[in-house]
Amino acid sequence: MKGRILIIEDNDLNLELVTDLLEVEGYGVWQARLAEVGLNLASEVDPHLILMDLSLPGLDGLAATRALKSDPDTRHIKVIALTAHAMKGDRESAMNAGCDGYLTKPIDTREFIRQITGFMASTNSNSIIPRQHYAL
Ligand code: MN
Repeated sequence: MKGRILIIEDNDLNLELVTDLLEVEGYGVWQARLAEVGLNLASEVDPHLILMDLSLPGLDGLAATRALKSDPDTRHIKVIALTAHAMKGDRESAMNAGCDGYLTKPIDTREFIRQITGFMASTNSNSIIPRQHYAL
């Protein structure tokens, strides 16, 4: 496994597409359709990267990202926002909430993998050193 990626996405088609693309690349993929479930999975799985749909029922992606980034146990996890709405100000909202990157839907499959590879290179997913050793 190249690294652990958690996808929090309520759109089934997009969830399956992203899952398939990442699994073909050799990543281990965890799925959540609700932010509340995703937050619990993030604590359990300690993913290297989270793909966070911003528009979710219940707790939305921005609120979920703020929760992850305010928790000492999960704040190190890279969060990449996924949104269908390429609205002005969306990117800024995502970055202000603590997202480390931003991708728009619909996904361009080749470009998506190129971007994920780049994001994963900035994580410790290639290291065998437990993450506790990085903690201050
Ligand atoms: Mn959604």
